[in-house]
Amino acid sequence: RPRSLSGIQATSDSLHLGNYIGALQQFVAQQETSDAWYFIANMHAITVPQDPAKLRERTLLTAAQFIAAGVDPERSVLFVQSQVDAHPKLGWIMECVASEGEARRMTQFKDKSAKNEQVSLGLLTYPALMAADILLYQADVVPVGEDQRQHLELTRNLAERFNKRFGHTFTVPEPGIVKETAKIYDLQDPTAKMSKSAQSPAGLVGILDEPKAIAKKFKSAVTDDGTEVAFDREAKPGVSNLLTIYSSLAGVDMATAVEHFEGKMYGHLKGELADLAVETLAPVRERTLELLADRAELTRILAAGAQRAAEVADPTVAAAYERVGFL
Ligand code: ATP
Ligand code: MG
Repeated sequence: RPRSLSGIQATSDSLHLGNYIGALQQFVAQQETSDAWYFIANMHAITVPQDPAKLRERTLLTAAQFIAAGVDPERSVLFVQSQVDAHPKLGWIMECVASEGEARRMTQFKDKSAKNEQVSLGLLTYPALMAADILLYQADVVPVGEDQRQHLELTRNLAERFNKRFGHTFTVPEPGIVKETAKIYDLQDPTAKMSKSAQSPAGLVGILDEPKAIAKKFKSAVTDDGTEVAFDREAKPGVSNLLTIYSSLAGVDMATAVEHFEGKMYGHLKGELADLAVETLAPVRERTLELLADRAELTRILAAGAQRAAEVADPTVAAAYERVGFL
């Protein structure tokens, strides 16, 4: 079985529909066909300022949402990045394998450094730590959204560069990006990625939003000129985004989704999608709240996950240390 590995940052209380469709649904599906490893990226989270108490809470909340969405900690390894010391160890080596120019070319760095007043050095070196996250486990495939494609390409380059310079050490991973659903857009600005760090929550659908709030966000989603429900990213970005969400949540292909709404108005699409999203997310929300009621159990699951992760990650770091000439 191929090994699949991915992570989500602990940067908000609730994950959003983009995380759910672009990442979590893939994580759950991967469990059927691969050896699956998932982590909560709390070290990546502090590349932008975080309140310590909130970060701690969000780490547990994010773990609970993974499990509530269907990541099974018996079948998969679920852990917290900071609890496996191998991550920053290999991260440092990757910082020394990557060049400064490469890091500066990353669009995530450009976007986030433009948005934040104070830009940490960690925000620049983020992709080196991300490469370490992946290479430590010799992952074959990394299920992520489209926004992470560039970082993954860099990870592949760093793995190849290290292997060439020091001898074969790392598996070169493939991106697991599902083209159709890899980028879910903000409901109020369908040209911008739905993001935890969005300016306004109006276009951001949270997994933990109350059902009423979810319905309201869909019903007030920005649509486009014209009346025909059709998939056209250029001319109808709003409607196309709603159709993408519909096809993913309903589990049908785009042609079927478009056919389903033939001759109907935008309002009909919004209403039906609001119902479907509530139906999908309400059980995830309830399960998350249940899981949070037993924090000791969640903490235990994560500790067990970290132990299993270290069993694979530590020998990889030891091999890398040996190769670079650390005594
Ligand atoms: P932040 O704004 O803090 O970076 P984020 O919303 O981008 O948060 P991440 O934790 O950085 O979320 O990403 C977790 C996973 O979700 C990644 O695989 C990422 O590619 C995916 N993802 C994030 N946003 C979207 C989106 N709008 N559509 C599809 N996938 C997404
Ligand atoms: Mg992100």
